[in-house]
Amino acid sequence: MAAEESVLETCKRRGISRRRFMEFCGTMAATLALPKAYSQTIAEALTQKRKPVLVWLEFQDCAGNTESMIRTTHPTVEDIVLETLSWEYHETIMAGYGKHAEAALERVVREEKGKYLVVVEGSIPTADDGVYCTIGGRTAMDIASKVCRGAAATIAVGACAWDGGLPKAGPNPTGAAGLHEAVPGINIVNLPGCPHNSVNTAAVLVHYLTFGVLPALDGEGRPLFAYGQLIHDQCERRAHYDAGRYVQAWGDEGHRKGWCLYKMGCKGPEANYNCPTVRWNGATSWPVKSGHGCIACASPRFWDTKSPFYERLPHPAGFGVDVTAGQIGWTVVAGVAAATAAHAVGHVVRDHFHPGNGDGSALETTLAEKQTTEVR
Ligand code: SF4
Ligand code: SF4
Repeated sequence: MAAEESVLETCKRRGISRRRFMEFCGTMAATLALPKAYSQTIAEALTQKRKPVLVWLEFQDCAGNTESMIRTTHPTVEDIVLETLSWEYHETIMAGYGKHAEAALERVVREEKGKYLVVVEGSIPTADDGVYCTIGGRTAMDIASKVCRGAAATIAVGACAWDGGLPKAGPNPTGAAGLHEAVPGINIVNLPGCPHNSVNTAAVLVHYLTFGVLPALDGEGRPLFAYGQLIHDQCERRAHYDAGRYVQAWGDEGHRKGWCLYKMGCKGPEANYNCPTVRWNGATSWPVKSGHGCIACASPRFWDTKSPFYERLPHPAGFGVDVTAGQIGWTVVAGVAAATAAHAVGHVVRDHFHPGNGDGSALETTLAEKQTTEVR
């Protein structure tokens, strides 16, 4: 992007029409859960000529979040929003290397103090004085502390930067920690996920460029616009869940017809993220739509707390805690289920569902088997 060029000017130069630009501003307003009128405010902010400096730090990780950010098949407005920021340092993709690269980072910390933005990817090893991840002879802990403490704001992308992710799972030999744990007290927004969704990163940046502050966060430091709702409550297969139509085996009739993946291990009832609305791969699809259960990759310590990924949740959502995963074959009568799902109160009657059919029409209703269960 040319110096002193606004997002809109960059769009024009790259063949993206004003209509497409305005569509993007509308999408960002919707993603941020703002009223539609805010799309004009966003457009005005992105039309301004300013270029905050951004540095991207990558520590103990698989580079999946960098991949998620740069894997586009064609330039999108989201790419261009990222270009409105002056990317001064990203060791994985920058042309400079060695001393020159590290000098660029030091210059930002020294000359842009309190003004630059940081994106952090990967966990911070804390065991044995942090020797398990060093860059240019400095530990991840030292770099993260110095760079993030001097920044206007920090965005932690991916599960590892949030709560330690896979490196922290199990025995955790490196003492891996999430950024907010390793470097407490910084101005931070967490965008967990494995990987994070770059649309949400663009939305956070748009929010910052438009309003000068980070968006509202939940108790886990995640923006409410992206992590405020359960996957289960946004899922297009939800009607099948409520009606008792479950996939029983990969490739069965229910799977081919797009029924609920709960019995195949879907963790959507316990996962907060906006995958069903934002989607992936240019908004074409998301894992549950494509036929695989959600593994709750944006939930706390999901490698430990949500695995095994192909086993059912122990307590089905919408049923009392006395109902186990094995019992969900006993499903609700469809009409009652829809009512209880809508109101989330009251009681439901369960019928015995023939496990071999996976077919709502094959309910075997046995009055003696009916039980009353309090709905959560
Ligand atoms: S259990 Fe999974 S597939 Fe079924 S409705 Fe919930 S999120 Fe969708
Ligand atoms: S569907 Fe679930 S596991 Fe997949 S990306 Fe979304 S939150 Fe993560």
